Amino acid sequence: MPFLAAALMVLFLLNPLSSLRADGTIVCLDPGHGGSDPGAVGNGVLEKDVNLDIALRARNLLTGMGYQVVMTRVKDVYVSLEDRCKIANTSGAEAFLSIHNNASSQGGEGTETYCYYDSEEGRILAKAVHYQVVSRIGLKNRGVKEAGFYVLKNTDMPSALLEGAFITNSKEADLLKDPLFRQKIAEGISAGLAEFLRDPGLFSEYISILNPDSSKRAKVAVDFIAADGRVRKEIFEILQLGRHSIFVDREIRSADVSSVVRSENGVAVVCERSMYFDFSGFNGGHCSSGARGLSKVWYLAEGSTAWGFSTFILVFNPQKEQSKITVRLLRSDGHTGSFEFVLPSLSRLTIDTSTLRGFENADFSTVVLAEKPVVAERAVYFSDFKGISGGHASCAVAKPYCRWYFAEGYTGKGFDTFILISNPNKIRAKVHMLSMLPEGKTISNYFGVEPMSRKTIHLNSVPGLQSTDVSTLLYSDIAVIAERSVYFNYNGIKDGSNCFGSPAPLKASYLAEGYTGEGFDTFVLLMNPNKESAPVTVRFLLPGVGVKSIGLILPAFSRKTIQVNNVTGLKGKEFSVEILSKKRIAAERAMYFNKGNQQGGHCVTASRPSGVWYFAEGCTR
Ligand SMILES: [Zn+2]
Repeated sequence: MPFLAAALMVLFLLNPLSSLRADGTIVCLDPGHGGSDPGAVGNGVLEKDVNLDIALRARNLLTGMGYQVVMTRVKDVYVSLEDRCKIANTSGAEAFLSIHNNASSQGGEGTETYCYYDSEEGRILAKAVHYQVVSRIGLKNRGVKEAGFYVLKNTDMPSALLEGAFITNSKEADLLKDPLFRQKIAEGISAGLAEFLRDPGLFSEYISILNPDSSKRAKVAVDFIAADGRVRKEIFEILQLGRHSIFVDREIRSADVSSVVRSENGVAVVCERSMYFDFSGFNGGHCSSGARGLSKVWYLAEGSTAWGFSTFILVFNPQKEQSKITVRLLRSDGHTGSFEFVLPSLSRLTIDTSTLRGFENADFSTVVLAEKPVVAERAVYFSDFKGISGGHASCAVAKPYCRWYFAEGYTGKGFDTFILISNPNKIRAKVHMLSMLPEGKTISNYFGVEPMSRKTIHLNSVPGLQSTDVSTLLYSDIAVIAERSVYFNYNGIKDGSNCFGSPAPLKASYLAEGYTGEGFDTFVLLMNPNKESAPVTVRFLLPGVGVKSIGLILPAFSRKTIQVNNVTGLKGKEFSVEILSKKRIAAERAMYFNKGNQQGGHCVTASRPSGVWYFAEGCTR
């Protein structure tokens, strides 16, 4: 998932577990110099003072996250290097970070982080802290380096040494005088340590690409960009109506990965990313289509750090230049917060929203604003929603719309369906929610969404919508963002799914994935939002086998569920789906899986083909 596997962080960022994660996890912070040793001196700044201030701020943040923090000094006293190591080595700490700021007679600038020679763990720690600090303060990135510093050599646990900024550089010294700047360094330190100390987990990632063209092959190039700088490229051809699935773990091992899928011969393709995760304690899967292009603004309606939920915002910058990023969160109660980041070229930023002030325990929606066009996504993991644990992920949308169509929705036993609406405007949105039931019956509800805030509608609680399949059509008088989240216990399979609605139904739409093999159930959900009935052809594209078509008539304003496992000839098959109609139809696919110890489900909106797809999220750790 995230930059350095924020997804893996979920284990301890989450919930009830959040108290567990802290217990027993000790970190040692070492503010460099002190007392008679001032460290670097210049431009009115004493290194020992800023080092201590940053360390104390980081201690507060880490303590707030539940860590136990051991300090080598908490005031302006001299502590020998030997004593610093002794304190660390007897503390039981699982990580050691020495906090310094730099000096140079040659006028240096920027941030660098050190680990001991050939220390594998130290390098991972240094990278995590380095990246998180650099992305927050935006100074020149001098990289992660190796050195034989005493405290790195003589500490028993993974250790790193951060040089935040240059005291001898008057511009950077001025920044160091600013408490807000020191706070940002401290936030980077705590985020980096948290990332490093996360429990190990397991992700598998797949990218499925469908060539919906019946006459031409598609020539496709996929770039995988790992957070640690590794890049892989794969080029292949996909036959007419064929599908190609990439097991990303095999392409780039043990990494947080962003991906770009590009057609090289003008044949547009349909692309989805599925991820399956298995942490100790809970597991599940999610699936999302990617972004068809880049944008300077992205919207997400869903997001929570309350109720045992962890929410990560992922931003991928495929540009050759760095980009400033502003993340604006809108709480349900109208409170907003803005947070600034810098995203280096060809890299991904993972933001754990529980580290953002004012959003430690809140429901919110998100707007991502970027200086240069980027792509944004959100991953959510939850440990105990009515006894259900799991996760879901969705690519953000670049634009609000006045209409949103959701084919899927179920309020029967074990299922909770929520519609989330974010209003990014300065005026109130008036929304008409039209619920469509299987027989063609409809129910209307009207409500407002306050300016700059988000609203959650629990469909199970809406009169008339109990224990039913339901499609939802939202009409808003001004453009808004809408998503649907479902939490389920489906025959013992527990997980959650999330989908953006479709802002515009299509006459031809596609689903790249589909599987009815052992342990997998696949459903295709159709919604006819038209005043007239609609004839629909659903074509199941079976690679190497052919096409199986079914025709049906959807009554006006109705919804239909196709349980693919029960369609004659489609049991135990892998397939893609093409949905064709003369009328515009909204379609989705829901999948549930039970692979022994791994269970879950996900849902995705059918889409139209595109020449390029971007995925910010991805993880093979
Ligand atoms: Zn120093």
